[in-house]
Amino acid sequence: MAELEGLEFGKSDFVLLDEVNMEQFMENLKLRFEKARIYTFIGEVVVSVNPYKQMDIYGKEAIDAYRGRELYENPPHLYAVADAAYKAMKRRAKDTCIVISGESGAGKTEASKYIMQYIAAITNPSQRAEVESVKNVLLKSNCVLEAFGNAKTNRNDNSSRFGKYMDINFNFNGDPTGGHINNYLLEKVRIKFNPVIYDLYQIQFYNTRIMNCVSATPQGNLQFETDSESVQVVGSEAVSHIAGLTTTEPDNVTKSLLYRTVATGGGEVIEKGHTEKEACFGRDAFAKALYERLFCWIVARINAVIEVKDYNPVLHGKNTVIGVLDIYGFEIFDNNSFEQFCINYCNEKLQQLFIELILRQEQDEYQREGITWQHIDYFNNQIIVDLVEQPHKGIISVLDEACLTVGKVTDTICLESMDAKLRQHPHYTSRCVSFYNLCLVSLYFRYSVEGFLDKNKDPLFQDFKRLMYNSSNPVLKEMWPDGQLSITEVTKRPLTAATLFKNSIVALVDKLGCKEPYYVRCIKPNEMKSPVLFDDARCQHQVAYLGLLENVRVRRAGFAYRQPYARFLQRYKMTCEYTWPNHLMETDREAVEAIVTQHGFQDDVAYGHTKLFVRTPRSLFTLEQERAAL
Ligand code: ATP
Ligand code: MG
Repeated sequence: MAELEGLEFGKSDFVLLDEVNMEQFMENLKLRFEKARIYTFIGEVVVSVNPYKQMDIYGKEAIDAYRGRELYENPPHLYAVADAAYKAMKRRAKDTCIVISGESGAGKTEASKYIMQYIAAITNPSQRAEVESVKNVLLKSNCVLEAFGNAKTNRNDNSSRFGKYMDINFNFNGDPTGGHINNYLLEKVRIKFNPVIYDLYQIQFYNTRIMNCVSATPQGNLQFETDSESVQVVGSEAVSHIAGLTTTEPDNVTKSLLYRTVATGGGEVIEKGHTEKEACFGRDAFAKALYERLFCWIVARINAVIEVKDYNPVLHGKNTVIGVLDIYGFEIFDNNSFEQFCINYCNEKLQQLFIELILRQEQDEYQREGITWQHIDYFNNQIIVDLVEQPHKGIISVLDEACLTVGKVTDTICLESMDAKLRQHPHYTSRCVSFYNLCLVSLYFRYSVEGFLDKNKDPLFQDFKRLMYNSSNPVLKEMWPDGQLSITEVTKRPLTAATLFKNSIVALVDKLGCKEPYYVRCIKPNEMKSPVLFDDARCQHQVAYLGLLENVRVRRAGFAYRQPYARFLQRYKMTCEYTWPNHLMETDREAVEAIVTQHGFQDDVAYGHTKLFVRTPRSLFTLEQERAAL
């Protein structure tokens, strides 16, 4: 138990701070990091600071110490949260989820892996082969996704360039039966990152026992030149190479790279030659789409393997779920673009859900237990979420409108229409900052709208889709079902990237919203990947935008912990002469009252119908200390 370690390790729960202010919060966070205490609670939320070194806190002994215990009975740890989510799922048949957030390199993916390993370790005690096999696939699916979706970046050597939400399904015994993965906003743009080397993916299939394994190797180099008035591909090897990899005809590849099929107003179908710029644009869009579809296909294959099979709720009881969300946190660079805009919108929405759920959860429980609810003041993030997603008025809607407008619409014109619609909004500002027309839209952070339109339209010529659909490789064909549409059948108004992303995030939030949430908030201590450096300014910035102080305030305003009377009594009866070894009172509640009174924290509790509510963890820590000293 953390408090027993002594105050030289700082406070194990931020709720215990003498005063809730940034200074005290940071002092405690830093002290704990320096003392290798990387986890700290805010009630049931775990704040984690990336240690950038191997910690000896994840072994079997640690797993045994946390299994089935209450949060405050052990030092703060990911395992405590994983166990709380698991217990709620198993004891109360609740669907739960663990939301892990933080910026790139803060330790989200590592945290999600420790959580999965913990759940795997505490389930299936009878070692049934079919459950072991499910666990194995769930754990290993991560390696496949990392192989295709992770990359080395300036900020993280093993950065996940996609968001991931994984549902793990459990049977009535609490053993995993399968799962499902959703992926979000794969950063496909990096495929054309290097302007000289054009990457295409070689797809090979191996038949193995667990699943069809896919390996991809970057290949190729494809450039264009303008010869008199027409555009040509430089050299023929690149085209043959692509044709070979995709099992298509080289002539068809060339044609798709240099021409696009368009339907005229009169319904006539013609072929229009690209300019060199258009050809480059088409090539890059094609490479990105190939990568994205391959990635989604892999996710679909994994899902097919881990899908719950032969589950009969009548025979097997309710199928419950723990969801684990590992999604990029707020991203703030010197120059923030469309990708950061989407990512930060997603985080604003998750932040909103976080506040809503925590408050709603509190309110519901207070009502059930007959405890008076006190109003808690908090910043309602909905106003920011609305600014982005509101139909007809929000930023995405203005952006989409600009994308659909026929004629020459530039990023600047689009910004002007945002200005016209949103100028009055308290959280919107925009300004031009330099001659090359870098404009900023503010939504908590600042964004350059340069490139917004193209990235939002994200067009891919139908000719490439048709090329892939006509491949003799059945898997490629399966990835491109929309290639069978003729140009006259293709919708002129496909959903834009921002709208597709918005829809997927709305669906995600709905999914999370009906589950009992648990949170891990990851903080990156420095930019140098150093295990000893605590960069005060960087950390403070993260604490601020993660809303951690607000979280502490909400937590302190209500009751930090609650326990059924019988369980409280069981754990602490030895600390009170009236309850040890047994009490003679009529009810457990009266016995609990005796303990509370003997220790003098009557003012720190409220008595519910079935549970004792404790305002601050200090009271429980005192009891834990007494219990340990006996
Ligand atoms: P991104 O958003 O870029 O995917 P992330 O938040 O998922 O970043 P991780 O990949 O989990 O970050 O962590 C980055 C690196 O930090 C890891 O590769 C590892 O070296 C180190 N690290 C993170 N958490 C821990 C931990 N608990 N113990 C030891 N090292 C850690
Ligand atoms: Mg990651």
